[in-house]
Amino acid sequence: MLKVNNINVSYGKVEVIKQVSFEVNQGEVVVIIGANGAGKTTIMKTVTGLLNPTQGEISFEDHNTSRLSAEKIVKLGISMCPEGRQVFPQHTVYENLVLGGYLIRRDKPIFQKNIEHMYSLFPILKERSKQFAGTLSGGEQQMLAIARAMMSNPKLLLLDEPSAGLAPIYVKGIFEMIKTLANQGTTILLVEQMANMALKLANRAYVLETGHIALEGAAADIMTNSKVVESYLGSK
Ligand code: ATP
Repeated sequence: MLKVNNINVSYGKVEVIKQVSFEVNQGEVVVIIGANGAGKTTIMKTVTGLLNPTQGEISFEDHNTSRLSAEKIVKLGISMCPEGRQVFPQHTVYENLVLGGYLIRRDKPIFQKNIEHMYSLFPILKERSKQFAGTLSGGEQQMLAIARAMMSNPKLLLLDEPSAGLAPIYVKGIFEMIKTLANQGTTILLVEQMANMALKLANRAYVLETGHIALEGAAADIMTNSKVVESYLGSK
């Protein structure tokens, strides 16, 4: 579904992604794990067209998306839930969901069905639908950010560090929600520092080290790899 082939990405003259290749197949949950500053967000921004690769190619289904605008890429069916959530704090929960569904807004029945689906997945969002998003807790804002990204019925959902800055109790809830979305058939590319939970959820994993893929394989194998255990999973 998504194929990233040998891309380099730079900020000015500084190359932060070097010859990175990976793919996501339909129905999979794929995780990219990596430490602070390894380049995870840069990869997500490149897949969504916010940055362009200086080398290599990205394709989604039959489209070469390497040079497409972010707007065109969203229309092809890739939706991102950004790091740090970035909900619209002065808009209500409902309005945030409406903004997430702007691509399907004219199809009222689908729009309404999606809203109901998100409210059933995240009942707290229904309870808080009229509340300003800025007044939600961090975990609730993360739920809203994921629900907003899901409102456009994406073929591929990108999640950039959904656990970042959340209390452990919320992290567990967020990962359960991601699992539910995956079980319902959403294809997901996740980047995470919280390697343990992400690997439990994923089918396949890539380990990103200072801008290059150091390791890849089935999540179950990556989880037991001694280098990964030592560097990313801590003592268990
Ligand atoms: P984190 O887990 O801290 O979010 P990350 O793995 O997502 O890290 P990136 O944010 O992709 O890493 O950053 C990769 C590298 O690129 C880092 O060295 C970072 O300092 C650098 N970088 C990120 N954004 C910019 C920018 N706008 N200009 C210059 N350098 C940047």
